[in-house]
Amino acid sequence: MHPLETRDVTAASIIRECSDRGKGIDTGNGKAVWLDTPMIEKIGGEGTIEARIPAMMRMFANFGVDIRKEPILIYPTLHYQNGGLDIGTDCMTTNVNNLYVAGEAVGGIHGKNRLMGNSLLDIIVFGRTAGKSAAAKAKDVTVGELTLEHIAKFDKERKAAGIETDKVSPVLLPDYRENI
Ligand SMILES: Cc1cc2nc3c(=O)[nH]c(=O)nc-3n(C[C@H](O)[C@H](O)[C@H](O)COP(=O)(O)OP(=O)(O)OC[C@H]3O[C@@H](n4cnc5c(N)ncnc54)[C@H](O)[C@@H]3O)c2cc1C
Repeated sequence: MHPLETRDVTAASIIRECSDRGKGIDTGNGKAVWLDTPMIEKIGGEGTIEARIPAMMRMFANFGVDIRKEPILIYPTLHYQNGGLDIGTDCMTTNVNNLYVAGEAVGGIHGKNRLMGNSLLDIIVFGRTAGKSAAAKAKDVTVGELTLEHIAKFDKERKAAGIETDKVSPVLLPDYRENI
């Protein structure tokens, strides 16, 4: 794969390598692939890692791994989800009155495949709008009695629909194996 592919392509490639192709490295806690971090220094010159990804360097150093000198074992995990609440331009949700949302809880901002780096841009832009809109709206709203009645109602609806589950959240990662 091209090194600047979108992350779902990167993730899929690693998962295929470790599952169908049986090439992953056994870590004792699942399989993983090597990320050639010393190559970053070879290409960018000595000091590139410390200058560009110091937090990662420190994180691995805590476990005795110098990522400038040795490659690291990696495997994809969920680090963003594109699904979420539908909002208008003022960041109020379209179906829950007076609920303002920004960030990863919002759906649709990035389409189906967020470009890298855009989430932090998103939370600053939409966070500011949501905050300003909510502050303005708060002046006109009379707060009703706080209640958890909606949770009881949801639970009743769930039971009536025959949905019994011990899952606390949906499984969102697609199955990337080659033969599926
Ligand atoms: C490993 C990793 C690397 C990433 N790298 C990048 C990157 O390089 N660039 C980029 O743009 N994006 C990156 N992202 C994505 C980005 O970090 C997130 O999309 C962004 O931080 C989401 O911000 P948020 O404010 O919407 O949610 P969060 O940062 O998740 O904030 C939600 C907050 O709500 C709190 N909370 C949850 N439940 C409750 C509750 N019931 N009551 C009170 N508080 C609660 C949580 O503790 C948390 O502090 C990365 C994500 C991960 C996991």
